[in-house]
Amino acid sequence: MSLLTIEDLTVEFPGGETPVRVIENVSLEVGKGEFVGLVGESGSGKTMTALSIMRLVPNPGKISTGRISFAGEELLTKSDAEMRKVRGARIGMIFQEPMTALNPVFTIGFQIVEALRVHRTLSMAEARKEAVRLLDLVAIPDAAQRVKDYPHQLSGGQRQRAMIAMTLACEPELLLADEPTTALDVTIQAQILELLERLRHELGLALLLITHDLSVVAETCDRVLVMYSGRLVEEASVDHLFAQPTHPYTQGLLSALPRLGQPHDRGHLPSIPGQIPDPAVRPSGCVFHPRCSEAFEPCSGREPPLYSLKEDQSSRCFLYSPTEGQPEGLES
Ligand code: SF4
Repeated sequence: MSLLTIEDLTVEFPGGETPVRVIENVSLEVGKGEFVGLVGESGSGKTMTALSIMRLVPNPGKISTGRISFAGEELLTKSDAEMRKVRGARIGMIFQEPMTALNPVFTIGFQIVEALRVHRTLSMAEARKEAVRLLDLVAIPDAAQRVKDYPHQLSGGQRQRAMIAMTLACEPELLLADEPTTALDVTIQAQILELLERLRHELGLALLLITHDLSVVAETCDRVLVMYSGRLVEEASVDHLFAQPTHPYTQGLLSALPRLGQPHDRGHLPSIPGQIPDPAVRPSGCVFHPRCSEAFEPCSGREPPLYSLKEDQSSRCFLYSPTEGQPEGLES
């Protein structure tokens, strides 16, 4: 059952003569307890998609069209007051840099207690006890003592866990996690991913994991959505995406993954030549065509639709058009 459904979401900012669309007609679903990866280079529209779900598109941007339904309720027609009850309580968000969410002048415990008392009806004593339990849940050692620490007294990995604990304080049904492990070393990254997996089983959490790193998605998610220049270009189960990626952009991302024994450059994507286009001056046709080694005649003229390929895989690429061309070897 779908917990989150986005239909035809378009987000735009004022431009010169016409508005600049940073996200265009994005549709996606996240099921209850499902882990979905949203992947793409910086500037592909991943974070803006998450901010749209929270109704936090920065000014002067706006959601110009689309619907966002969460647990059967339409979010885009909610009042600001109603939206505040959803944000932070039923949908949590964790960021790459925990200090954007943690206040340096208050102890970790105080901040978790505050979050608990805003969103749940607990006495001060109950909230304090719950804060320790949550720090314990996210595997911060000696939680009863660490609640008294200020954020700067924790390591980077512990701060990230503390932020997750604070987000979990409100018992959200959905977590939006924006590059939650990018700034962390590989060991801590693995621990955070394990933690998210454990929380899925213990709390039934659903997760929309925003990352540029397909290897993180492979370890964590059930399904993957690949974004490029504000559009979804491929959608598939993790198994199908890794076994048989169809969009040339996805193939480029996968070929950039580190091989066993090679160092992993986590800060950079791919060996795809060129750069993601400025949304104000997108190329005509398929937005990926200037970088695509497979581009052919129709690609620069018009934008490809999302073609359904097999039960859980679709690709925005003319190579899969029944009339433009069908690559060999794609089993349906
Ligand atoms: Fe490449 Fe053409 Fe497919 Fe775009 S539509 S990804 S340019 S082959």
